[in-house]
Amino acid sequence: MRTGFVAIIGRPNVGKSTLLNRLVGQKISITSPKAQTTRHVLRGVLTDVEHQFIFVDTPGYQTEHTGALNRTMNRNVMQALAEVDLVFLVIEAGRFGEADRRVIRLLPENRPVILVINKIDRLERKDALLPFIARVSGEHAFVEVVPVSAARGQGLDELIRTAGGYLPEAPLLFPEDEVTDRSERFFAAEFLREKLFRHLGDELPYGIAVEIERFEEDGALRRIHAAVVVDRPGQKAIVIGRGGETLKRIASEAREDMERLFGGKVFLEVWVKVRSGWADDERALRSLGYE
Ligand code: GDP
Ligand code: MG
Repeated sequence: MRTGFVAIIGRPNVGKSTLLNRLVGQKISITSPKAQTTRHVLRGVLTDVEHQFIFVDTPGYQTEHTGALNRTMNRNVMQALAEVDLVFLVIEAGRFGEADRRVIRLLPENRPVILVINKIDRLERKDALLPFIARVSGEHAFVEVVPVSAARGQGLDELIRTAGGYLPEAPLLFPEDEVTDRSERFFAAEFLREKLFRHLGDELPYGIAVEIERFEEDGALRRIHAAVVVDRPGQKAIVIGRGGETLKRIASEAREDMERLFGGKVFLEVWVKVRSGWADDERALRSLGYE
């Protein structure tokens, strides 16, 4: 068997989490068109007859926002990079800029890096791909370049085949049927945060966190009490929405995702609380699971 860790890194929004979900065949990493959707390092496991890949999804490396939360996320990206056998550097087809270069500068020198060009479905002209590959290949000593569409599942077999050759020979680290090392409690908070990111306007999600206050299993039923933590009182009204409609829709979509992953019914109760300055308060961050 070949078994090893593969870090998935890149600037925000290139599709790292979408790729992880496709590779492991289940939605475990939350995605949205907004930067900072992924705040935690998350492992997803794919086991086939010859390999076990432990993919490590990371927050997009932040260079624009500062503050304690972003410092924590960047530190976690660097730690993830230090521990892996192989790196997928993800970029978007047809787009390559300074933000991508800043991520390249973080790449460890003694690890193979595969350049994954995602979102090839978005290319208007297919013949633009080869010149693009030629241009970006010179940016680093990549061992391979693989174009994919994570959203459509194109190129992923090729990616896995190619990556497999770079894993060391080693026994399995996870049971064959395990997809992740995170708890249901973790995913409950994450799925709720995804819906907040998707349903709220552009600025609000960055001031929001989710705390699971109770998680109880009652036979096949899970009873979950969650708090949405906002930074300012005015944000509370926005999250709740007129007549509670916004929060109702957010909670109901999050519940559906939880039921799919957990394979059972979920009773979900959500309330909103204000905790000013949580994103810059190291203690608040720890209690919200950002370590
Ligand atoms: P991350 O920040 O790098 O983890 O990016 P996400 O996985 O959250 O994806 C960011 C956005 O890009 C989401 O809206 C995804 O639906 C979208 N996306 C991801 N992969 C693809 C792809 O292959 N094609 C297209 N068209 N969109 C994609
Ligand atoms: Mg992500």
